[in-house]
Amino acid sequence: MVTRRPNTVIAISVVLAGAILAIAVALLAQMRADALRRAQDSAANISLLVERDVSRNLEIYDLSLRAVIDGLKQPGVLDLPPQIRQRVLFDGSISAKDMGSVFVLDENGNVRFDSRAWPPHTGNHADRDYFKVQRASPGAGLYISGPFSPGGTDEDLSIALSRRISRPDGSFGGVVVGTLRLTYFHRLFDGMKLGPSGSMALMRSDGTMLMRRPYDPKTIGINLTGTANYSRFITQPSGDFFGTAAIDGVERWYAFRHIDGYPLILDVALSTHDIYVEWRRRAWIIGTLIGALDATIIALAFLFSYQLRRRRAAEEELRELARTDGLTGLNNRRAFEELVNDEWRRAQRNGRPLSLLLIDVDNFKGFNDLYGHSAGDEALIGVARCIAQNVRRPGDTAARFGGEEFAVLLPDTDATGAQRIAEQIRAAVQALQCRHVASAHHVLTVSAGVATAQGAAIATSRALVDAADQALYRAKDAGRNRVIADGATTDTASRDGGTVTPDTDARGAN
Ligand code: GH3
Ligand code: MG
Ligand code: MG
Repeated sequence: MVTRRPNTVIAISVVLAGAILAIAVALLAQMRADALRRAQDSAANISLLVERDVSRNLEIYDLSLRAVIDGLKQPGVLDLPPQIRQRVLFDGSISAKDMGSVFVLDENGNVRFDSRAWPPHTGNHADRDYFKVQRASPGAGLYISGPFSPGGTDEDLSIALSRRISRPDGSFGGVVVGTLRLTYFHRLFDGMKLGPSGSMALMRSDGTMLMRRPYDPKTIGINLTGTANYSRFITQPSGDFFGTAAIDGVERWYAFRHIDGYPLILDVALSTHDIYVEWRRRAWIIGTLIGALDATIIALAFLFSYQLRRRRAAEEELRELARTDGLTGLNNRRAFEELVNDEWRRAQRNGRPLSLLLIDVDNFKGFNDLYGHSAGDEALIGVARCIAQNVRRPGDTAARFGGEEFAVLLPDTDATGAQRIAEQIRAAVQALQCRHVASAHHVLTVSAGVATAQGAAIATSRALVDAADQALYRAKDAGRNRVIADGATTDTASRDGGTVTPDTDARGAN
């Protein structure tokens, strides 16, 4: 199973955590886009609604002014008694909400009629823009003035709407002018849901501010020409964009439109902060939860992989212990037998020689009897050390074969090389000078049998062991403390120990 690998566990957890994070990020991005889309829809809807309301009302006011002009044209109207004439001329305009006085001015700007008084208050309006514009151009249509305060207070801030009175010959015959209180726009704007930092503004096409929400009398009448937002308003009939208000420096999403048929621009702007405030709150919660989830997944993966590593190390240690001899630290017999099989097969495959030494301590029973079992154990450890010191090449293996018997496996080593190593071991044990009075040599000694498999001469690994065992038997038989190779004659061994080379099968050196 792949999850047995500690690094795979961590990799899987990182991928999983990354996938969860990616899904969360995609979801949050989607939610953010949704929030903006909702705001865009809402701004567009509000601007459409307000535009319709404003243009419908302006139409009503315009109709009132036209009604006055039509009334003036009616034959006999001017001859009617004043009270009835007032009714005929101004009935329409009186019913219009937020409409102030309606005046009829003559061609010199003098008040001829006043919807609220008869006889009218005398006055001359020839210097006012709503008069001058109409006098200057016959085709001016409905003129909308900038804001002004007829009574001098913020409460009665108004704009004037004027229309030209043309005589039958087309010459200028004065104007009819009505005032519209800006409270109409104020109320209209206040009725819209824009969020805490939203804004709305109505301005003339020349940039003169007529009404703005949040309401501040100081902003009424200012000119926006030259501001970044206004520059965008005048490029198209309608549109939307992210912009920053020159008045308060707040970044907002703007939806603007030119009011159809009138020289007015309306904008509705929702603040970026308001648009994303709910999204931000959710993003925090989701982000924190996902972060915690990811951290937990990765932490658990690390914990799991740590436990896995520990378990593997413990298993490895156990495996190692199961293969090691407790007294000498060499391989035990089980490990050795596995190895002998593997090496034998490999040697056969590669056509290389494989040598085996079997080493047995001489008269060891006597040693135990004389010096005790503990001393015997010590002696075995000494012998094992002599073996290990002479078996150093990588691939060479020494093992305790059982009791006081050892085995050395020498891959890629021919008979001559194997005998040399066996002889070195024998000499090393003798050199320990471990007293053994019951031995003919007076010190602890070993005998060794050497067998070498090369080609088809030795058919199985078992046969290799048997050959080494027979050689060892012959070494014992020949007087111990000597090395005898498989196939060597015994009686040529020297009395003082030494190596007897096989007389039948001389193998080349490594
Ligand atoms: P030979 O020269 O023919 O090998 O004689 P030997 O006495 O060595 O042979 P034998 O097989 O009769 O005796 C082996 C002795 O090794 C028997 C046992 O008491 C001793 N022995 C085997 N394993 C251990 C061990 O782990 N520790 C100790 N102290 N002695 C051991
Ligand atoms: Mg022995
Ligand atoms: Mg023995």
